[in-house]
Amino acid sequence: MSDAAALAALLRAARRAVIFTGAGMSTESGIPDFRSPGGIWTKMMPVQFQDYVSDPEARRVSWQRRFEMEETWNATKPNDGHRIVAELARRGIVSHVITQNIDNLHQASGVASDHVIELHGNTTYARCIGCGQAYPLDWVKRQFDEEGAAPNCTVCDEPVKTATISFGQMMPEDEMQRATALSQACDLFIAIGSSLVVWPAAGFPMMAKRSGARLVIVNREPTEQDDIADLVIRQDIGETLGPFVGN
Ligand code: NAD
Repeated sequence: MSDAAALAALLRAARRAVIFTGAGMSTESGIPDFRSPGGIWTKMMPVQFQDYVSDPEARRVSWQRRFEMEETWNATKPNDGHRIVAELARRGIVSHVITQNIDNLHQASGVASDHVIELHGNTTYARCIGCGQAYPLDWVKRQFDEEGAAPNCTVCDEPVKTATISFGQMMPEDEMQRATALSQACDLFIAIGSSLVVWPAAGFPMMAKRSGARLVIVNREPTEQDDIADLVIRQDIGETLGPFVGN
């Protein structure tokens, strides 16, 4: 049986399928991943959360980098892979999407926000790190341009940061709980475009498998969990998922 036929059979048999995505999901939208050659880590070191909290200069650099990326983020559109995931969700074949991505592209492709669990947050808006108050990026940019520094919260005066989870920051409790419950209850877990090396997110495929789900891994490169997967498809995401709409 071909990989495509095997994946189609698993999807047909599933009653509670969950999709888990990583940066590879969005490379076909032009957003580089972390670990492929030329990926983000080969270009700049991420700002650690503790440095962000304690050092105004780290906050300034962090926002400067974010604003430099604004045009790129704004121009980014969902790709065929996102559209197929959204179609599987629309048909009720996939109940939820757990994502490590911060790019909002699952929601932009039509998956309802309350069916997308963002483990690492979202870079398209900002939040106060103290009270959680949300801010649009336009507001942050205006403050930054006027003051020459990253703004603090108007409610509690703590620093405002993109609504992402930085290295060294606590994982979001609610999202972790929801992802845990879904991984334990699903009968098919499909990990797409993730090297599965970033923890604790990488624990979910393993958790699903141990809880009795079938595990599928779609990734160009080998991952450390390939040996426990029921099906490993080592090819591009658009090419892999393309045939599923219409089936
Ligand atoms: P990663 O960079 O570690 O791994 C991505 C994997 O996807 C690689 O193994 C690569 O071979 C594979 N890949 C890339 N394009 C592919 C394609 N078209 N088809 C099939 N496979 C493809 O990414 P990760 O596991 O998500 O971990 C990195 C962290 O970086 C995550 O925490 C994520 O939050 C963050 N990140 C997010 C974005 C985004 O939001 N788009 C972008 C970069 C990094």
